[in-house]
Amino acid sequence: TDGEEVTEDIEREEKIPTRVTHNIIFVTAEAAPYSKTGGLGDVCGSLPIALADRGHRVMVISPRYLHGGPSDKNFSGTSDVGCGIKVYCFGGAQEVAFFHEYRAGSLWTTLHTTVLEIHMVIFMVLLVIISSGSVYFVMQRAEAPLVLPLGGFTYGEKCLFIVNDWHAGLVPVLLAAKYRPYGVYKDARSILVIHNLAHQGVEPAITYKNLGLPPEWYGALEWVFRHGQEHMPLTLGYSWEITTVEGGYGLHELLSSRKSVLNGITNGVDDTEWNPSLDKHIPSHYSIHDLSGKVECKIALQKELGLPIDPDCPLIGFIGRLDYQKGIDIILSATPELMDEDVQFVMLGSGEKQYEDWMRVTESYYKDKFRGWVGFNVPISHRITAGCDILLMPSRFEPCGLNQLYAMRYGTIPVVHSTGGLRDTVENFNPYAQESSGEGTGWTFSPLSRESMLVALKVAIQTYREFKPSWEGLMKRGMKRDSTWDNAAVQYEQVFEWAFIDPP
Ligand code: ADP
Repeated sequence: TDGEEVTEDIEREEKIPTRVTHNIIFVTAEAAPYSKTGGLGDVCGSLPIALADRGHRVMVISPRYLHGGPSDKNFSGTSDVGCGIKVYCFGGAQEVAFFHEYRAGSLWTTLHTTVLEIHMVIFMVLLVIISSGSVYFVMQRAEAPLVLPLGGFTYGEKCLFIVNDWHAGLVPVLLAAKYRPYGVYKDARSILVIHNLAHQGVEPAITYKNLGLPPEWYGALEWVFRHGQEHMPLTLGYSWEITTVEGGYGLHELLSSRKSVLNGITNGVDDTEWNPSLDKHIPSHYSIHDLSGKVECKIALQKELGLPIDPDCPLIGFIGRLDYQKGIDIILSATPELMDEDVQFVMLGSGEKQYEDWMRVTESYYKDKFRGWVGFNVPISHRITAGCDILLMPSRFEPCGLNQLYAMRYGTIPVVHSTGGLRDTVENFNPYAQESSGEGTGWTFSPLSRESMLVALKVAIQTYREFKPSWEGLMKRGMKRDSTWDNAAVQYEQVFEWAFIDPP
């Protein structure tokens, strides 16, 4: 590191001297703007900055993907730390190099390994072990706080690992099996953040021999996968859902037994990235005080998509992975009836081929009403969020969901299945509340069916057309909603305090 970075680092720590601060190590498969396939990338790109802004020393470690990997990736800002290590696994010594970048004038640091490509292939056999690529990726991470002299000194052993989803799930095991017995990382703690329990990285037992873990730890990673509960609809807040048979994907008993240390925290919105008055991807800026730019965004979007230009026609959007989780099958079954309405509908997404093909065919069938944009495109996702009137999210389950938060921030009304984070964040519209000035920020429908989704959409369309003051109220309440990452960071800090209390 150079002298400038050292000064910056130290100055930052001196700014907020009174609060208890921690050395925090995020371990994640993706972090925007370096890599992103979905919400995990957004969270791990924003939450570390929010925590660093609150005075913590924060490092984010994620793979430096060379080929394949996330749909959106860019490592051009990073440079080699010049401090490589050897990791023993997969039958030999693997060379690892670290790259880093300081961001946003904060303590935030990104580190990348050169050689890693995570193998996202998931093998469903009797036993669970994390995928081979990930294991390798995890091992590099456990070393990083000890060896990297960032800001002039290493993070050391008293640190807090924030372990995100299954890709990083071996970090606590490595700490317990490989380091703590030798007196290393005795004072470290780890917090597992579950962004989506449906993805678990199940591996065949044979993978264990590649991990470089002692044989007696095999049992700690073993469990029997239970079939048949993969696709059950869920109904309540996500931290509760994962303790139920339907939502636990085989882990509900384990998670129930850990209820006392299980917390749910709603994600925030990165105000520098998703802000209609600053957004670099949209043609006109607007805010709660002057909404005129939103209509201009709508007209520009209609032009860009080649749809008839009509500022009064309700424009519905969908953005997301084309996956069973996202309820694409429900959209597919409802589209013919929806197309009978005087509406326009644009979908942006990539994923299962059958749905990509369906989007292409549907577009050619409803030329004046439907657009299906197959692909992963961040600028277009911003323009759809700004230009649409309604954002549709019929997710089967949704741990948190970010698109509905972005939509509300942009005055676009979410119509969502009442599940998990969607239910926690979108308040159903009640036109009779507050002496008929109304309350709520969108529509939440249940059960998840073609019929109930269509009812919600039609009520939304009618409100848009016939009750302009109600619509404006919905927009403004959504735009005012407090979704800052600082809010989430405060809640994370409460969890950190718990993590450092030793069990009795
Ligand atoms: P998940 O993490 O399950 O995919 P989230 O709603 O939490 O769902 O986050 C999805 C993130 O990925 C959002 O930032 C969304 O805008 C982005 N995204 C999803 N699909 C696309 C796409 N095809 N093009 C651009 N961005 C996308």
